[in-house]
Amino acid sequence: MFSKTALKKLAARHGTPLFVIDHDELRRNYAMFKKYLPRIQVYYAVKANSDPAIVRTFYQAGASFDVASMPEFENVYGNIKPLPAKERQDWIWDKIIYANPIKAIETLKQLDQYKPLVTYDNYEEIKKIKKYAPHAGLALRLMVPNTGAMVELSSKFGASPGEAVDMILEADRVGLTVEGISFHVGSQTTNFGNYVAAINLAANIFKEARDRGYAKMNLLDIGGGFPAPYDATVKPFRELAKVINRELERLFPKNIQILAEPGRFLCATAATAVSKIIGKAVRDGKLRYYINDGVYHTFSGVIFDHCQYHLRAFKKGPTQICSVFGPTCDALDVVSMAENLPDNLEIGDLLYSEQIGAYSHASSTYFNGFPPATVVHVNQ
Ligand SMILES: *Cc1c(COP(=O)(O)O)cnc(C)c1O
Repeated sequence: MFSKTALKKLAARHGTPLFVIDHDELRRNYAMFKKYLPRIQVYYAVKANSDPAIVRTFYQAGASFDVASMPEFENVYGNIKPLPAKERQDWIWDKIIYANPIKAIETLKQLDQYKPLVTYDNYEEIKKIKKYAPHAGLALRLMVPNTGAMVELSSKFGASPGEAVDMILEADRVGLTVEGISFHVGSQTTNFGNYVAAINLAANIFKEARDRGYAKMNLLDIGGGFPAPYDATVKPFRELAKVINRELERLFPKNIQILAEPGRFLCATAATAVSKIIGKAVRDGKLRYYINDGVYHTFSGVIFDHCQYHLRAFKKGPTQICSVFGPTCDALDVVSMAENLPDNLEIGDLLYSEQIGAYSHASSTYFNGFPPATVVHVNQ
């Protein structure tokens, strides 16, 4: 994505640790998604990387947004230009879905004024929404198989298929409107069968709800999970799109609006991290490099996202398998136990990691006094 020379120049200018975001790559990923899934409106999952500049770039490209907290909501709301108040309900559903099935009462109270579209997956939530955000539209979050996803989500959220229609009818009974169904097949889903199973489950719920007298559903939100091409084992996106399009055409007539909430797919390949070697030691015969970025910072995905990022050197030299540690005093701060790196790197030399745009900088902390990496935007 970036040439080594360009990365070195940026590091010289801005210092390290550095997190470089390429907005052309964000636009390319968005365009690819739309090219292969033209029927689907994209709601970028802001949690993957909530940088306001990313929100603006996707908005300009035509995206809508999936948010899961009030700060995320305000990030999107403040960064895109709302229409006049009277058009706001259409606007907000077109542009934002609040896709956290569990919402605190204070959140619902704040959200209600926007007449938002929100997800739910349990009876308590129906009561809460009715009482504190009665102007919200609802989407039922369905539990679907997450087989083989890198990050599994079905253990935390989702109404089971057996109780889904009861839960739709209950919301209707108390006077709320269920607009449709949403699901998430698990993040970095390389098992395309998950999408097939989930779309078919959702179609069955639509049918059962209709059979039991509820025919108001008009949207299907197929969630996130679209895999980033981290390595050659990830099949091309167009193959997944083909499978999804086939099922949607077969099961959902044109009048059903289809949404998706890609996060990782849109931003993973768009960022590169540059870090600096600040220490070097040999222990137990193994070479250890200490760098100024780690798992409490840009490499947080090692812990939270079950993701391994490769580190590369700018310098050439004979390589060996090394450990790479972050700057904090915590033994958990291990970027990698096995990276093939030149053994002649010195204090002050730089390393870089590509495809680190998703679930990385977004969960950086200030642990041990080390601040998050500086962010630089390229081709903005
Ligand atoms: C995290 C999340 C997403 C984004 O998932 P990706 O795997 O990054 O595409 C989408 N929707 C919901 C509800 C999520 O929680």
